Amino acid sequence: MTKPFKTLDDMGDVAGKRVLVREDLNVPMADGQVTDDTRLRATLATVTELADRGAKVLVLAHFGRPKGQRNADMSLAMVTKPYAQVLGRPVRFVDWDGAADAVAQMQPGDIAVLENTRFFAGEEKNDPQTVAMFAELGDFYVNDAFSAAHRAHASTEGLAKVLPAFAGRAMEAELDALERALGNPQHPVAAVVGGAKVSTKLDVLKHLVGRVDHLIIGGGMANTFLAARGVNVGKSLCEHDLTGTAEAILDAADAANCTVHLPYDVVVATEFKPNPPTRTVNVHEVAADEMILDVGPNAVEALGDVLKNCRTLVWNGPLGAFETPPFDVATVSLARTAAALTQEGTLVSVAGGGDTVAALNQAGVADDFTFVSTAGGAFLEWMEGKELPGVAALSR
Ligand code: ADP
Ligand code: MG
Repeated sequence: MTKPFKTLDDMGDVAGKRVLVREDLNVPMADGQVTDDTRLRATLATVTELADRGAKVLVLAHFGRPKGQRNADMSLAMVTKPYAQVLGRPVRFVDWDGAADAVAQMQPGDIAVLENTRFFAGEEKNDPQTVAMFAELGDFYVNDAFSAAHRAHASTEGLAKVLPAFAGRAMEAELDALERALGNPQHPVAAVVGGAKVSTKLDVLKHLVGRVDHLIIGGGMANTFLAARGVNVGKSLCEHDLTGTAEAILDAADAANCTVHLPYDVVVATEFKPNPPTRTVNVHEVAADEMILDVGPNAVEALGDVLKNCRTLVWNGPLGAFETPPFDVATVSLARTAAALTQEGTLVSVAGGGDTVAALNQAGVADDFTFVSTAGGAFLEWMEGKELPGVAALSR
């Protein structure tokens, strides 16, 4: 099947060619050490394939927020050594001063990391001069950084317009998974939307009601929907000023034949701390001094049955305050059900969001989902139905 974007398969012979590869090397660091190398590992497929095909691989990336100024504390020189360890190959660091000479000396199969793209103000402005300066260094452009694709920057969007442009393997896998989950999914489709607040996910909810068959609302935001339905949520996190918006979303779901699932039993406590005394009650029995901190066991069981009848699941946001025990129970339980159905082959499951990924790791099931996106902002914008400039620029 022809994909809507070109991939490394469409590049032809790249031996001896200079390939600018946009990756996400924005890794967390402490005391000069990378504390989580997930993003570095995600580049492996593309970078090693191109090097093995004889390309001169030039990795382009940003690091931190230097705001258009050179800043030694945000130099990608620091990341180059740990990156070489992850790749298991030599990687050279190329500063912007003398970059043309350094690139001219590279041999086929060599890999280099260019200095932080955000040292130039023109990067975030997508300035044509900055684009041209980057483009001088390459014959081809590969964008492998889905997580940066919601930004129209010189290295994420501008370059795709001036050089032959292709999606890298990680970008390709991400776009394929998102297409299966929401672009062109098998129905019935369920969406789980949780997290703290409705206000941060309004656009997600509005987009999803028109696309999915079941909308499962959990987390703190469910309280706003419950309040909209006249439930007294006590001292729960609740955006009372948004109950009207919540009602409008429920109406839109009705009109679109989307079934909304709100919790009907919940776990409550009077104090928000690890392992406080809790009660499991019907939503209509929450006392004035209690907070809803997790979905209850009966609702979770019913939600598991919904997933059993679905072919596709997209998940963003935990069902409860999962960082604080025991309010991780609903999230962990439903995640395990989704993982088991995925492994049995009846469900395509795609999840994303910083806390969601942490919760799936806590449940020990991240590897059992079809795809888990670590893209954060880009994943959310995709859930909102927005066109991502970095992706749009790659389309055929
Ligand atoms: P993601 O990062 O996956 O997009 P969010 O940031 O939207 O997810 O939401 C995660 C946060 O929501 C977590 O910190 C979690 O504790 C919080 N949360 C979930 N349910 C509740 C609740 N009932 N009350 C308060 N906070 C909650
Ligand atoms: Mg979050």
